[in-house]
Amino acid sequence: MSPQQVQFQREMGWAIALHGGAGDIPLSLPAERRKPREQALRRCLEIGVAALKANRSPLDVVELVVRELENNPNFNAGKGSVLTSKGTVEMEACIMDGITKECGAVSGLSTVVNAISLARLVMEKTPHIYLAFDAAEAFAKEQGVETLDMTHFITPENVERLKQAKEANRVQIDYTQSIQKDVSEETPNANGDSQIGTVGCVAVDSQGNLATATSTGGLVNKMAGRIGDTPIIGAGTYANNLCAVSATGKGEAIIRATVARDVAALMEYKGLSLKEAAAYVIDECVPKGNAGLVAVSSTGEVTMQFNTTGMFRACATEDGYSEVGIWHTSL
Ligand code: ASP
Repeated sequence: MSPQQVQFQREMGWAIALHGGAGDIPLSLPAERRKPREQALRRCLEIGVAALKANRSPLDVVELVVRELENNPNFNAGKGSVLTSKGTVEMEACIMDGITKECGAVSGLSTVVNAISLARLVMEKTPHIYLAFDAAEAFAKEQGVETLDMTHFITPENVERLKQAKEANRVQIDYTQSIQKDVSEETPNANGDSQIGTVGCVAVDSQGNLATATSTGGLVNKMAGRIGDTPIIGAGTYANNLCAVSATGKGEAIIRATVARDVAALMEYKGLSLKEAAAYVIDECVPKGNAGLVAVSSTGEVTMQFNTTGMFRACATEDGYSEVGIWHTSL
């Protein structure tokens, strides 16, 4: 089925989905950690729905929602970004418009309050797609976006998370050394924190315009300079005229599987529906326990799939359906 044929089948309205990270979220997650995230998901969903109803473009909608999530310290992006093995913050983000395939990405930010908006500026104000580290920071200053000292982004919870990740890494290395004598040096072991995650949003309007945005602090205890899937077009983030996808989970696994692009490719080349394509990629292409995604199609279909214990997520469609969930059943 050609993309044009899929477009002609369009009969549904707008749709939006967002996530606050996928991972090994324990079913016993204490209420004081669960509730603020649930509330944030609901509030961000309302903000996104209101913007779609007000005829804001999907690109504006995904940026708006991701900015809200970045400003919330309960998620691993912006203010709540997890820390590198050096205790620093290196944020990254990506935004993409489905119809035009215009996109922008940033990595290695340590002072920019809303990385997603800088990614949009890279898309709109430069001939390039991706800026990183010092040059991205310099571009932020040049564009006059809000910046704050790196200490603003370092929350006590993330200092503790880094401590725990280093401790877990040390225990793992002690164990490995006891069975494998040639491991002599401690290497940073980035691990997916079980209770905090990357943020993302996808949206389609009733004309079938699509957009996606993803933003993250990366993985706890990552090496300085590590770039994950989030800013990589086709891995953590991708949109075309058929669908918009935002992924979350272990970046290295998501990059290897080109998760977001594969969903679009299965629709484009094999004629799969959005749900079929997303389920195939999550179930068959990424090792279990590694990834989740939210996606919408140009026909207003929405899907939220994950092969982890849970994924903080929410969605709504024009026909009145809405869902907020963490584990495999919705809340
Ligand atoms: N995918 C992100 C990364 O690997 C992390 C996450 O989704 O929580 O950088």
